[in-house]
Amino acid sequence: MLDYHMHTRYSVDGQGEPEEFCHIAHQGGLKEIGFSDHFDANPSDASFGFFELEPYLGHLQRCRNAYADKLSVRIGLEVGEPHKYPDDLSALLRRAQGAFDYLIGSVHWYNEMLIGDPAHFDSLSPHESYHNYFEEVLQMVKHGGFHILGHLDLVSRYPINHPLIITEHEEIVRHILSVALAQGIVPEINLSGLRRKTSSSLPPEQVLVWYREMGGNTVALGSDAHRPSEAGSLNQHGIEIAQRAGLRYLAGFCQGELRAVPLP
Ligand SMILES: [Zn+2]
Ligand SMILES: [Zn+2]
Repeated sequence: MLDYHMHTRYSVDGQGEPEEFCHIAHQGGLKEIGFSDHFDANPSDASFGFFELEPYLGHLQRCRNAYADKLSVRIGLEVGEPHKYPDDLSALLRRAQGAFDYLIGSVHWYNEMLIGDPAHFDSLSPHESYHNYFEEVLQMVKHGGFHILGHLDLVSRYPINHPLIITEHEEIVRHILSVALAQGIVPEINLSGLRRKTSSSLPPEQVLVWYREMGGNTVALGSDAHRPSEAGSLNQHGIEIAQRAGLRYLAGFCQGELRAVPLP
């Protein structure tokens, strides 16, 4: 139905023209998609300085027009650690003049290292390191200024030798979710974990059950596609995960305003 997390050639690690994503999504029966290319203000990130605002907005506007009667095309952005670079993000949003329908806030860096860096475990136990990651996510959600909380437990996708046991971090994860609820930030079900055969959505169903217990009923759905063939992939799985957790709506956004779509 919806896919709100897709990266095109406007991301340093993405491939493909936006039109190709639209084509695949439309073929796959999706009704609405959102582009969320990377914006990173961290000078150490591979994506730093790569994103070009005006060509991106112009290109997506052309896509939106071309697919006007077939597919709703939303314009988003995945912002790395927005709480650490508020001035850079503000400057970008000023230039965009309200063009963005939504922003995804994501933590890709913590303890001054990229998330998949094995050096995370040089001086900290996996538990301590993961706790620091969730602390960073908590700081980001407290800061706010975005609409969707990207891949809440992204750490689980990388360190094969140190699996994340989410129940060990229940307290801080619930804290993150309670702040998100208070801020009107919607957590995402990111399907990249399933595609990589780490066998779980990000976050896993257990976290979505906690969210439901706490009064949450709306989630965003994202494939985290980095090439056109992945657009909308595993969407049906995402819907089933949300249904099993007892959630009721998928989040759409138009000009920053939530448009909740009832789950089937
Ligand atoms: Zn991400
Ligand atoms: Zn992404």
